[in-house]
Amino acid sequence: MMNPELVNKFRTLQTPFYYYDLDLLRNTLDNIQKHGIDKGYHIHFAVKANFNHRLLQIIRDAGLGIDCVSGPEIERAIEAGFKPEQIAFAGVGKTDDEIRTGLKYNIFSFNCESLQELSVLNELASEAGKKANVAVRLNPNIKAKTHKYITTGLTENKFGITPDKLPELFKILPELKSLNLKGIHFHIGSQIRDMEPFRQLCEKINIIREQFEQEGIELEHLNLGGGFGINYDHPDKEPIPDFKHFFELFSQNLDVSKNQQVHFELGRSIVGQCGNLISKVLFVKKGISTNFAIIDAGMTELIRPALYQAKHRVDVLTSSKSKKYYDVVGPICETSDTFRKDIELPELQRGDLVAIRSAGAYGEVMSSNFNLREKVNTYYSDELL
Ligand SMILES: *Cc1c(COP(=O)(O)O)cnc(C)c1O
Repeated sequence: MMNPELVNKFRTLQTPFYYYDLDLLRNTLDNIQKHGIDKGYHIHFAVKANFNHRLLQIIRDAGLGIDCVSGPEIERAIEAGFKPEQIAFAGVGKTDDEIRTGLKYNIFSFNCESLQELSVLNELASEAGKKANVAVRLNPNIKAKTHKYITTGLTENKFGITPDKLPELFKILPELKSLNLKGIHFHIGSQIRDMEPFRQLCEKINIIREQFEQEGIELEHLNLGGGFGINYDHPDKEPIPDFKHFFELFSQNLDVSKNQQVHFELGRSIVGQCGNLISKVLFVKKGISTNFAIIDAGMTELIRPALYQAKHRVDVLTSSKSKKYYDVVGPICETSDTFRKDIELPELQRGDLVAIRSAGAYGEVMSSNFNLREKVNTYYSDELL
């Protein structure tokens, strides 16, 4: 995926840095247009996956909406030119200030995660003399078959309202005069590669929807959240996730009434594959049972391996020598600062460049200045090629 000309450019730049392939992002968005938007689905980009300005502009130009999980994300989305009526706002712990931010802009939907949040939102909306558009986030108790730290749709997780609270919700709803209940919202987890949990989600929603209808509540929209996974093992074989298959599953399994909108909030599947973290080998150290390739990027630039035991593909860009086994590790004083253990790579030496692949989602945005490390530079395909 990295041509020699590009690698030569990389050699002139200070490492580590993030490199984004904007053509891949555009092709991914075209694919979403074809298989999702053209089929009538409404797609929001989950901005927490990557709030990079250039990426946001491309995503905005493709006509997507935004899914936010904080007040500052709402502000960032507005700054980037998204319209308030395209903004959904989720989060289990919205502060009063964050709620006021959403009210100020009259956003598309507050996705409320508890009954208490509904009454607080009602009060704040009433104070502001506004009616807030609301979707209730329901926790459908579905195993997403992903890492436990990115599972969100089980009743043991902190997210959403469990369906046993629905009778109580129906009881208090008429008193919440400053709320407009518009929809129901779900988000069962992230990096979901097996489609079965999504099929189960459709089944649960079909049942829950009816409960609302029986109460005489017409839902203008169903929001299914995000979570669609990407291929971290073989990014070049599957640079664009199979959106056709993904959206077809919903058109086959989800009951939707006439005029009811269906929304998705995709993060990782939109930006994951277009980002790479480029890093230089600082030292190669022979251990007792393994060789350590110590690179200049660490968990401060990409925390996913340390946080979720995530495995990113490591491609060597500047060596094609015979292969050896390496642990690829960062410079940070934490043993979890390890990108890969025991992988076979072309023989490395000091100064070689590596690309840590599929780093466009939850990469740059999760970087920190632990060890007083500075934020790294970002480059884009259209300025290097
Ligand atoms: C994180 C998040 C998403 C996006 O998840 P991906 O796995 O990146 O698609 C969507 N909706 C909500 C509410 C989220 O918190």
